[in-house]
Amino acid sequence: MAVDNSLAEMHWKHDLLGSIEVGIVVLDKEFNVQVWNQFMENHSSIVPSIIQGKSVFEFFPEIDKEWFTRKAAPAFSLKSPVFVIWEQRPFLFRFDSNRPITSKAEFMYQNITIFPLASLSGDVDQVCLVIYDVTDEAISRLVMQSLNTQLKEISRVDGLTGLYNRRYWNEQFDMEFKRTKRSDTESSLIMLDIDHFKKVNDTYGHPAGDEVIKALAGIIQKTIRETDVAGRYGGEEFAIILPNTPVANVEFVSERLRRLVEKCVVDYAGINISFTISIGIAGFQKSYKDSAQWLESADKALYQAKAAGRNRVILSE
Ligand code: GH3
Ligand code: MG
Ligand code: MG
Repeated sequence: MAVDNSLAEMHWKHDLLGSIEVGIVVLDKEFNVQVWNQFMENHSSIVPSIIQGKSVFEFFPEIDKEWFTRKAAPAFSLKSPVFVIWEQRPFLFRFDSNRPITSKAEFMYQNITIFPLASLSGDVDQVCLVIYDVTDEAISRLVMQSLNTQLKEISRVDGLTGLYNRRYWNEQFDMEFKRTKRSDTESSLIMLDIDHFKKVNDTYGHPAGDEVIKALAGIIQKTIRETDVAGRYGGEEFAIILPNTPVANVEFVSERLRRLVEKCVVDYAGINISFTISIGIAGFQKSYKDSAQWLESADKALYQAKAAGRNRVILSE
C-alpha cells in the first residue's frame, strides 16, 4: 500500500513539474542536474535522460561558473533562498524568445530563484532553481525606458535648430556657473543675435527667416567644440557656454564665427540671402553672485556691438 502511495505521489509530482510554465532544475553540490522539467526540455531541446547526472555548466557554457557558484553559495550554507532578477542578469539559460519576430526580444528574459532543498538531517545537499520567463515584463520596461530617454532628449532640444532650448541651456549655464565658481578655471560665455532680422522676415517671408536661423545654428555647431554648450536663447538669439576657455581664446572663435556667417549664403527657393550677426562675450568673473550677472555682462556687450554698427564682436569690460 505504501508503495502505491509513493508511486501515486511521483506521478502527481511528475505531472505538476511538466505542466507548470516555469523551469524547475534541481542541482546537487557539484552542480550536476538531478531534475529537469518539461519547460526546460521544451526550451533547450535537451531531454532529462541526457542531462541528468551531468554538470549544468557542461551543457550551458553561457553560465558564468564562478559567478553562479558564488551566487548559489548562501542557498547551500545559510539555507536561504537567492534571487537573481533580469535587471542584474538578463538570463541564466540562453533560450530563444518565443515572442513574434517583430518583438524586440532576442532571448528569454529570466528571473531566477535558488531554493535550498534540505534533507531529513537538515543538510542542504541540493538546490532547486526556479526559472521564470519574464520577457514581456522586461521588454515593456525596456521600451518604456527608451521612450523616457527619447522624451527627455526631445524636451531639451529646440525643434527648429536641434540646439538646446532655452530652459535646458539655462540649467546647464547655471551648473557651469557653479562649477567655475568652485574651481579655479576660466570659462566664457557668448551671446549672439542676427542683425536686422526683421528685414529678412519682411523681405523674404517667415519661412525664409526660419532657414536663416537653421543655417546659423549649423554654423555654430560646426564652429564650437564638443564640450561647448550652444542653445537657442530666443527667436534669433543664441548663447554658447565655453567651459575652461579664457576670453582671449573666445575672441578668436567669435571672430571666426562672425566671418563664417558673413560669407554664408542661404539659398531659399532660389533666392540668395546673406546676413550678419553681432556677438557679445563675457569671461567669468569671481565677483558674479549668480549666473544672471554673467549673462547680463554678455548681453551688454552684445548691445554695444549692435550700437557700434553691428556685424562685430565686443568683449565685456
Ligand atoms: P537687431 O539687429 O537689432 O537685432 O534687429 P532685429 O531686426 O534682428 O531685431 P530683433 O532681434 O528685435 O528682432 C527679432 C525678430 O526675429 C523679430 C521676430 O519676428 C523674429 N523671429 C523670432 N523668432 C523667429 C522664428 O522662429 N522664425 C522667424 N522667421 N523669425 C523669428
Ligand atoms: Mg536681431
Ligand atoms: Mg533678437
